[in-house]
This record gives sequence, structure tokens and C-alpha cells, in this order.
Amino acid sequence: MNLPTEPFFKISFVLHGVAAAPGIAIARAQLVSHATLEVAHYDIAPEQVDDELARFDTALATVRAEFEALHERMKGDDAPAEFGAFLDVHWMILTDTQIAKEPKRLIAEQHCNAEWAVTQQMKTLVEQFEQFEDPYLRERSHDVVQVVERIVKALMGRPSELPVINPLHATALIAHDLSPADAIHFKESAFAAFVTDVGGATSHTAIVARSLGIPAVVALHNARSLIREAESLIVDGDNGLVIVNPDQHVLAEYELKQSGQRLERKKLTRLVATRAVTLDGTSIDLHANIELPSDAKACIENGADGVGLFRSEFLFLHRDDLPTEDEQFESYRAVVTGLQGRPVTIRTFDLGADKRMPGLGDRPSDNPALGLRAIRLCLAEPKLFMTQLRAILRASAFGRLRILIPMISNAHEVTQTLGFIARAKAELVRDGIAFDNDVPVGGMVEIPAAVLSLGYFAEHLDFLSIGTNDLIQYTLAIDRTDDAVAHLYDPLHPAVLKLVAQAIRSANKANTPIAVCGEMAGELRLTRLLLGFGLRNFSMHPAQLLTIKQRVLTSSIADCELVANRILRTDDPEKIISALAKLNAL
Ligand code: PEP
Ligand code: MG
Repeated sequence: MNLPTEPFFKISFVLHGVAAAPGIAIARAQLVSHATLEVAHYDIAPEQVDDELARFDTALATVRAEFEALHERMKGDDAPAEFGAFLDVHWMILTDTQIAKEPKRLIAEQHCNAEWAVTQQMKTLVEQFEQFEDPYLRERSHDVVQVVERIVKALMGRPSELPVINPLHATALIAHDLSPADAIHFKESAFAAFVTDVGGATSHTAIVARSLGIPAVVALHNARSLIREAESLIVDGDNGLVIVNPDQHVLAEYELKQSGQRLERKKLTRLVATRAVTLDGTSIDLHANIELPSDAKACIENGADGVGLFRSEFLFLHRDDLPTEDEQFESYRAVVTGLQGRPVTIRTFDLGADKRMPGLGDRPSDNPALGLRAIRLCLAEPKLFMTQLRAILRASAFGRLRILIPMISNAHEVTQTLGFIARAKAELVRDGIAFDNDVPVGGMVEIPAAVLSLGYFAEHLDFLSIGTNDLIQYTLAIDRTDDAVAHLYDPLHPAVLKLVAQAIRSANKANTPIAVCGEMAGELRLTRLLLGFGLRNFSMHPAQLLTIKQRVLTSSIADCELVANRILRTDDPEKIISALAKLNAL
């Protein structure tokens, strides 16, 4: 009897998760860590307790050395400052008595093995963290698990090394969760994709994947336990799917899709230096949205005309102290010099709601998205705001900088902000520090009230930028982070379209430059519609720039306007969808 060399029945199945970073990878699975937490429990004899305690101390020292090595490695390269902050959190957890001492008490009192003691302590801590109302603190339970995983690996004599990538085939990393320290590894290892059980489209891992340009699917719940080492996988980051052991037909189909995408991508790179001009000769600005200074490189590579949105709050989202003025200045200067003369729009901290910072406007709130967020929080925390404004202004001496205020809704917010900027300038003059006195100041249009009273903002600000992510949330009363209502989050809702069009038209009428920097700007099916509304400046994730540029190059403003006007006249979603499909087929 001829036995097949491989098991002849490999069950093919599909896991559905959240699409976190686009693209397709066909790869072998490489599982990481989490299973190490399912540790054995055994008793140790009283006379072995000292040895067990020493074994635990040695494991702690190993992990400390790993963190120190990672820290060193980060100094030299261009690892985003954010990773340093992640690492600091892990260091704090590692050295906290709850992890460094409490397991030793368990070993001594219960005569149990060290792996068991530390994982029991981890469970207690995770339960405590999960009770927190504050989502930031709740999230930290993942960090506790990640640190304990490292300790357990060290106890088992398997320190957390860089996963070794087989150069002969593409590798997809499968993890329960991925830590920030793991993310540093990604910068050095050629993973083809990654897949995690937890996380959302805006989790750290998703953000890192997007900035690395590799496909990722998150929130798969059971991927880590259902997928086996070296199994073949298709990671479909466009649709949030992971196909395990695909059959030949599916594989062939995806191979075709993947090579199509690669070819498309390659062809697109020819457009890097091409100006985005429509068929009827209208020039369109295509800017990039970034989260970290190191993203500046991707902006240049993808031919961005500038940075339309630097989400500056990412500089310290995961640390529990505020970045100093000098730290911020260095980050802003790095972006502005990295952009080589192109304009850079720095949004002042958009903290609050889902982006919370312990100790800052951190009152419990039933409706945090409607509470002390963005510019409201900055105006309530003058020291925080002044420090940032000084840092931005200092960086303005090194290139073309613009300041963008998030979530404006009231005239007095503009007056107060301009007052703060004037004060910051006066301080810099007093201190003899150079800055650009004409730095433009703009506002984000993210609240329906701002659209409906745009005249004031257009008159008093130098430019405007529509944050459609929040504009949709506030127009439709849909929490953009809540899974349960995600299906109602609709950029094509007639009310949303009317508001976006109205904002663009009012700003154009007032001759105030306006951009869209929400996700709608990078959605291919919406490019022509936005052109038809009169939009001439789009800001999106760098990876989308060339795709959108190609669409601009094949669009006629006259056609776009015609259909856009028709769409604005109807409140029927089906008519909107069919008119849009026709526009995109032109
Ligand atoms: C938006 O709301 O559209 C936006 C660009 O800001 P953020 O996604 O950071 O809230
Ligand atoms: Mg927003």
C-alpha cells in the first residue's frame, strides 16, 4: 500500500475576523507563545523550595536582559518612539512586586513549581485589570499576559528569541496577541502576514501591520488554538479571512488574485512622481495620514504631496507620562525634515474617548465620545496644550508645518486656541527660539454642528479638514468602536453625504482650503463622488495613495459633478448605490 507522505486528510476551514491590514498572503503558519501559558502544575519538596525560588529569579533576570537588549536595539534604528513606550510598560510590569515577588510567596507557601505560581498570579492580576472601567487599563491585562509568557518561556529554557523565519517560504505569524516588543521584531523579520485572536481594527497590532504594509487579520478568537504549526494558510487582509489548508482550487484562485495585486502594485509605482490631474486638467492634492515619525518614509515612497494628518497623540498613547517639549519637538522635526519640503499637518492631541491617558481629564463618563475629548481636553489642560504648541512651533523652523485642531464645534474654541498659539509664540520670542510666524492653523470638521456653521470656521481659520470617521459617528449616533452597531456605520448614508458635500462647498465658496482626512478619502469607490462634491485635497494612509491617484487620473470632474448632484438629490440608499456604481464604471 502506498502511504501518502503527508496526512491525506487535511481539513480545510475558514476563520472570519476583522480585516486589519489589506493584501493577500499565502504562507505557512508559525505559532507564537500563548500555549506556553498552559503550564504543568506539580508539587516540589520543601527542601527544593530554595532552588525553585532561584530558578524563578534567574528567569526574571533573563527577561530583564531581553528587554534591555530590545531597548538597546531600538536606540540605533528608526523604531517608532511608541515602541519604547510599550517596552516601558512591560518593564514596569516585570519589576512590579505583583509579578517579581508574589509568585515567590506562592512557591514558598504552596510548594508549587515556578511556572504554576507565576501563571496563577497572572490570572489574579488579569481578573483585576478586567474589572477596570477605563478601557486603557483594561487593555493592560494583555501586557501582563505577554510579560508572563516571556517569564514562562525563560523558565522552560526557551527565552523569547526572534522567531526564526524560514527563508524558503512565506511565514504568517499566528498569535493570541502580539506585544509591542514583538512588533519591534517585525521590523527586522520578513513576515508575510499576521493573525491574532484578539484586537480590533484600531488595535496596536493593526496599526503596526498597516505601517509595515503586510496583510493582517485580527479578532479571530480561536486561531491560535485551531491552526497548527506549518499548516498552509491564506491570509486575506482585504476581507478579514484566514483560510486554513486551502484546497487546490481556492489556492489557485488566491494565487491569481495575489499576483494580480502584485502586478497592480508594481504598475502603480510608476505613478509615484506623476502629478494627480483629472482628465479635464484639475490638479488634486494627495496627502498622507501618519501615526509615527517613522511613517514619513512611506509618504515619500508613495509620492505623497505632504502629510495631511499626523495623529500626534500616538506619541504617548501607551505610556503613562507626557512626552516632554523636547521629545515632541524631535518627533515633529523628524517628520518635517523627512518630508523634504512638503507640508506637514500636525493635529494637536486628540485624546479622550477611546484614546485615553491616565490622569488626563480622566473622569468616568457615560458618553466619553461626547465628553472631554480632543480640543476640549487640550483647552482644559493648558500645560499639556502649551507644551505641544511650543514643540510644534519650534519644529516649524525646519519646514512647512501646519497646525490642525481636532473636533471643533464652537467659535470660542477657535478664539481660545488662537490665543494659546499667540502665547506660545510670544514665549518663544522671549526665549529667542526660532519658529515660523505664519504657520497656518486649521480645524477638523468632525461634528455636524461644525458643518452647519462652517462659515465662521472658514473665515477664522486658514484651512479645514473633514474627519469623516467621527463625522459619521456623530451624524448617525453610531459609536465607531462598538461591534454591535458596526453594520449601521455607513459612509453612504444620505445624511453623511449631504454634510460632507455641504462642508466642501461652503469652504470652497469662502476660498478656504478644505481636505478630507477620514477613511472616506482613501476609499476607491468614493474618490469620484468626492471629486464631484468639489474636493481637491485628499489625505489617507500612505499605502492607498497610488491607487487613489490612478483613479483621479482616469476621472472627469464634469462626469463626477453630474452624478454627485444626482446622488445629493435622493435619500434612497439603493439609488445612491446604483448611481455610484455607474459613476465608477465610467
Ligand atoms: C476622523 O475622525 O475622520 C479622523 C481623521 O480622525 P480620527 O480617525 O483620528 O478620529
Ligand atoms: Mg476624528
